[in-house]
Amino acid sequence: MNTYQGKSVYKGIAMGNVIVLKDRDLQVKRCRIGDAVSETARVEAAGKEAKAQLQRLYDKALKEVGEANAAIFEVHQMMLEDEDYLESIHRMIQTELVNAEYAVAVTGDNFSEMFANMDDDYMKARAADVRDISNRLVKILQGQEDVDFSAIGPSVIVADDLSPSETVKMDKEKILAFVTVHGSTNSHTAILARMMNIPALIGVPMDLQEIHSGMKAVVNGFSGEVIFEPTEEVCGQAQKKIEEEKEKAQLLQTLKGIQTITLDGRKVHLYANIASVGDVGYVLENDAEGIGLFRSEFLYLGRNDFPTEEEQFQAYKQVAQMMAGKKVIIRTLDIGADKQVDYFNLGQEDNPAMGYRAIRICLKQPEIFKTQLRALLRAAAFGNLSIMYPMITSVEEVQQIDAIVREVQKELDELQIPYKIPEQGIMIETPAAVMVSDELAEMVDFFSIGTNDLTQYTLAVDRQNARLDDFYNLHHKAILKMIQMVVDNAHKCGKWAGICGELGADLELTETFVKMGVDELSVAPSMVLKIRKQIREIKM
Ligand code: PEP
Ligand code: MG
Repeated sequence: MNTYQGKSVYKGIAMGNVIVLKDRDLQVKRCRIGDAVSETARVEAAGKEAKAQLQRLYDKALKEVGEANAAIFEVHQMMLEDEDYLESIHRMIQTELVNAEYAVAVTGDNFSEMFANMDDDYMKARAADVRDISNRLVKILQGQEDVDFSAIGPSVIVADDLSPSETVKMDKEKILAFVTVHGSTNSHTAILARMMNIPALIGVPMDLQEIHSGMKAVVNGFSGEVIFEPTEEVCGQAQKKIEEEKEKAQLLQTLKGIQTITLDGRKVHLYANIASVGDVGYVLENDAEGIGLFRSEFLYLGRNDFPTEEEQFQAYKQVAQMMAGKKVIIRTLDIGADKQVDYFNLGQEDNPAMGYRAIRICLKQPEIFKTQLRALLRAAAFGNLSIMYPMITSVEEVQQIDAIVREVQKELDELQIPYKIPEQGIMIETPAAVMVSDELAEMVDFFSIGTNDLTQYTLAVDRQNARLDDFYNLHHKAILKMIQMVVDNAHKCGKWAGICGELGADLELTETFVKMGVDELSVAPSMVLKIRKQIREIKM
């Protein structure tokens, strides 16, 4: 029995046989070739086939996990056309007279190392993408079949790291858990695992040479432990826990379609957080009463240029219509910090979390903001839509937003384009906004507290830095006092206040929040029924 401790990115427990993915062990031999022209032609043909495979993956992902998650395959297709990357392969073939497989593998290693050594976390994460496209090319050149993950039986997937193209190809019904040596809480694997509702551990310090496909494993997303070749006793305990969890999940189903009210009748609005149109399915499946945070910046990620007004309008309208009259709160773009996009040309910053991001970009580059606002106002005519502005620190910012919204309204009037001015609120995620929330409450329709950022700014703890996990204390009294202050100030002006940060899903605090007067909680879709259950047991 071998036990390893990792970091859990999704709670749950699973037990089953392991499949170890050793994709990176592709055997590539260096061979001397006589004809550089035909070898280069092989690379070109492999490139075409790789793009065709990626297009198929994109189409599949679009249907299953939505546009934002599918976009990575478009990025891979673009990377395959990167001039520097291709030139390096061609030059190597021509000058060193080596085989195509070798030139692709070496170029892939070089480029991926270059990305891995960059300071920027977003660029670092691209190392896995370069490795992914290079492996794909090598496999095609070697005539290897693209692994059919759908053929794998129910398994615990163990890997060094998982690329987005690997995870999306897997048949979700058959994946019991993910366990990886690398990866971060914000990696695609982590995001997909949460979306797929399966336990996942990252940062597990295991030696993959000692782990083999077919071994048995217990993955405990509650404790962050993975146990290989568990004893019978451990298996028995795990099985018991799995059954308990199953029973809990079944009991939760009975909470669908009923109200989220306390024992004495106080209503709490229970909404879900999403990142793409494709996520609406999870919202409906878990019976959320609305969408409390649509992180619209995901529409801007993984592409080469700004999404047009029409593209955005269609996305927002689709979500509003799918939710059929239920509330949909769309947050305007929160680009910057951990969500970097090349075409925004944000430049290097020493401290991007406190840098040029979110509403600051919108106020400094109003054309970008106005495109999104036009799309939102137009889409508001098709459902129960609200707009929410992120990273607010002052009354003046809200005044500036107001002026820009009025300009957009005037433009739409002049063009006689139908629209609606929806409910507009702000995120309270800076200590400054908390402290002036009495004044802000008079200017907006609602507050939604972003505890993820509010905690990092209040405690001066970078939320991306895993080394500071022990200091990122979401239960800190300062945060709870701030939440109370914000709720009280909202209520004094007859406005509502909710929580859309991760803390909103903390079951240990549900009762506290309800008793504080929090009007709305917006959480990951998989948490909705658990919170409804908790609220229904509260006596005020
Ligand atoms: C927050 O900061 O709590 C929040 C909900 O926004 P994000 O996590 O997208 O920064
Ligand atoms: Mg935030």
